Amino acid sequence: MRVGIGYDIHRTAPGDHVVLGGVEIPAPFRLEGHSDADVVVHALMDALLGAASMEDIGQHFPPSDARFRGISSLELLRRVRSMLADRRWEVVNVDAVMIGEEPRVGPYVRAMRERIAEALGVDVGAVAVKATTNERVGPEGRREAVSAQAVALLNSAP
Ligand SMILES: [Zn+2]
Repeated sequence: MRVGIGYDIHRTAPGDHVVLGGVEIPAPFRLEGHSDADVVVHALMDALLGAASMEDIGQHFPPSDARFRGISSLELLRRVRSMLADRRWEVVNVDAVMIGEEPRVGPYVRAMRERIAEALGVDVGAVAVKATTNERVGPEGRREAVSAQAVALLNSAP
């Protein structure tokens, strides 16, 4: 078995919704970044790639590559799953935490878990998504950014 860690952060910008865990959620801002700026899925992908010692999403899906502009991060997550499967890794479980004062994601957590689980081909019980504020300090606390951290556990398939 192998464990990996992932981290990501995106700046906020004027807007009215964000995409987190593949779910569009109303917010008093949007998140800047290539693809859909889904900070939760980006942290998860880096955790999965890290567990397999397969570099990071910047290497596999470079922001400079027009093919990845505006692409759904869930689609990138499916590609990561496929890359892992090629190397005979299966996902045991993943756990992610979003850090930001807003949006309040409680009502959307179940949908986020379901979309991530579907993309990874695992049971929804193997996917945890949580959220916390940053106690109004730091870039997340000042609503300048939203960040996410994640861990992933892989098992070498027989
Ligand atoms: Zn990102």
